[in-house]
Amino acid sequence: MDLRLSGVTKRFGPFTAVDDLTLTVPSGSFFALLGASGCGKTTTLRMIAGLEEPTEGQVLLGDDDVTRLRPYRRPVNTVFQSYALFPHLNIEDNVAFGLRRRGIRKCTDQVEEMLHLVDLDGFGKRRPAQLSGGQQQRVALARALINRPQVLLLDEPLGALDLKLRRQMQVELKRIQTEVGITFVHVTHDQEEAMTMADTVAVMNAGKIEQLGAPVEMYDFPGTAFVANFLGQSNLLAASVTGRSGDDLLLDAYGSRYSVPALRARCEEGTVWLGVRPEKMHLSTGEVPSGHQSVTGIVTDSSYMGVSTQYLVRAPWGEELTVFSANSGVAPPLAVASEVTVFWRPDHAFLLPRPADQT
Ligand code: ATP
Repeated sequence: MDLRLSGVTKRFGPFTAVDDLTLTVPSGSFFALLGASGCGKTTTLRMIAGLEEPTEGQVLLGDDDVTRLRPYRRPVNTVFQSYALFPHLNIEDNVAFGLRRRGIRKCTDQVEEMLHLVDLDGFGKRRPAQLSGGQQQRVALARALINRPQVLLLDEPLGALDLKLRRQMQVELKRIQTEVGITFVHVTHDQEEAMTMADTVAVMNAGKIEQLGAPVEMYDFPGTAFVANFLGQSNLLAASVTGRSGDDLLLDAYGSRYSVPALRARCEEGTVWLGVRPEKMHLSTGEVPSGHQSVTGIVTDSSYMGVSTQYLVRAPWGEELTVFSANSGVAPPLAVASEVTVFWRPDHAFLLPRPADQT
C-alpha cells in the first residue's frame, strides 16, 4: 500500500521544521529523503513513524489515515543509526524481540530466515558486542524486518560505518529491499548514498521538497541550482536567452554565444544558468571536435584522484570551471598554467532559471 503525506507541516513554536509536504511513496519502492542537516528529514520520518504529531496535514497508508495512530499500532518500523540493540541479549533474541512481544514464542525458523537474509548465518548465539558495526547494523535491520512492516524507515542507518563498509552496505540494503519487497524510506545527507540505492530521491531544503524524481533524471537534468549543486558538482555559467533557432535556444554568456536544445531547458527566456557537469566537460590543447561548445582558459590546478584528474580552468571572465578528466592513459596530464580549451556537447548541458541579480 502506498504511503502518502498530504500537506504535512510541523512547527516547533514559531519555527517551521516541515512545511506543507505532499508526496506519495509507491508501495514496494526504495525512497530516499536527501538534504543537509536541519532541513527536516528526521522530523518527516518521525511523523511517519508516529513519534511526532504533525501540526497540520495527514499521513496515509493506502486509504487509512494513520496521522493520530500510536507508533506501535502502525505497520511501520524504524532502524536508527545507533542500532539500539539490547546488549544483554544474544543476536537471536534481539531479532526475535518484536515477535515475542506480540506473544509469538515459536519463531526459530523466522529468526533463521532473517539472519540468512542479512547474511549473518551462524551468528545467532553471539552478543552484539562480539559483532562489528556493519554486522550490528544488519542485526538491527533483521530485527525491524521480522515484523514484516508495510514500511521500513531508515534514519541515517549507515552513518556510523566507515566509507568502505558504507558502500558495501548500500549494495546490501538495496538487495535486501528488492528481496523483501517492503517500502523503504531512507533518510540521508549523503547524495551518493541516496542515488545508489533509491528508486526515487526527494531533495529537501528548509522543510520543503526542492525536487523529487529518479536519481539519473535528477542528476542529469536538475530542476534548480540548489539540486544541481547538492547532487554532485556542476559548472553554472550566468547566461541570457537571446533567441531560438529550430529546436535550440540561443544564449549569450559573458559575451560568447552558446546553444542548448530546448528539451534540456527548464525555462526558455530571460536570465538563466547554463549548467554542465564536470565529467561532461572535456579538455583539448588543439582542435575542438565539431558540434561542441567551448571556452578557452588557463589550467590553475590539477588534483590526481586515481580514476580521474580534477582540473580547474580559469575562464576569460575570471571564474573557474571544474573538469573531471578520466585517467585512461591516452592523453598526457596537463600542466598548471597551460592554455586549454574546455568543450562539451550542447545536449549535455542544461538550462535553469536564474534570478537576474544572481551571477
Ligand atoms: P540532521 O541531518 O542533522 O538530523 P534533519 O534534516 O533530520 O537534520 P530535523 O532533525 O528534522 O533535521 O530538524 C529540522 C529542524 O527542526 C532543525 O532546525 C531542528 O533544530 C528543529 N527541531 C527538530 N526537533 C525539534 C524539537 N523537538 N524542538 C524544536 N526544534 C526542533
